[in-house]
Amino acid sequence: MKYCKTCHVHYDNTLEHCILCNGELEKTGEVESTYKFPEAKKRSKSRFFYRLFIFLNLVSVLVSLYIDFADGLPLTWSLIVGITNIYIVVMFLVLAVPTIWTHRITKSVIITVGSLILIGLAIRDVDWALDYVFPFAIMSNTFFITLLILVNKKKWFDYFSSLIFITIFGLIPGLLNVLNLTNVQWPSLVCFAFSTFTLFGIIILPSKSSREEFKRRFHI
Ligand SMILES: [Zn+2]
Repeated sequence: MKYCKTCHVHYDNTLEHCILCNGELEKTGEVESTYKFPEAKKRSKSRFFYRLFIFLNLVSVLVSLYIDFADGLPLTWSLIVGITNIYIVVMFLVLAVPTIWTHRITKSVIITVGSLILIGLAIRDVDWALDYVFPFAIMSNTFFITLLILVNKKKWFDYFSSLIFITIFGLIPGLLNVLNLTNVQWPSLVCFAFSTFTLFGIIILPSKSSREEFKRRFHI
């Protein structure tokens, strides 16, 4: 018997990965061949609070924008409140989707960087976000996932899709440099080089078996 921690599904077959989330399956001791799905529960109050939570955040955005707009000056603080409210909702929605934890981290990093850039635009001082936060966040995430793959080779595929995603994202700071949107160029350049290097590594390094696995998963 095998078990997926993320989806709470038991498997009684030779699969190595969960068919729902692609996560690595854990071996459990039991050998009986009954499928155990989690008990179906009635959609309860949590659904209500879930919606109330999103609704209150959206109300907060609109009320803040209105109050700030009413004084006739350019919008300032309400933009930050709005971005923060939307950030909370998006993070909440993303984290509510059951998936591998590295995917959650990668998504969180990208959403956080995006929000910080928006806040930078709102306070009309975006250089710190574009020059430092963006490249360093991407680089540390890339480094972290690379390290995970090196340490735990058996689970490489779980981390692989996160890595491809984040390295493609890491090419953007280089683009910002080219478009002259950055003031301090070296962090973006380093991030661009690091991402390109990792992407090449992804293409060149994998063994034959991992390439086969890759093709199998994507039906190439
Ligand atoms: Zn699963």
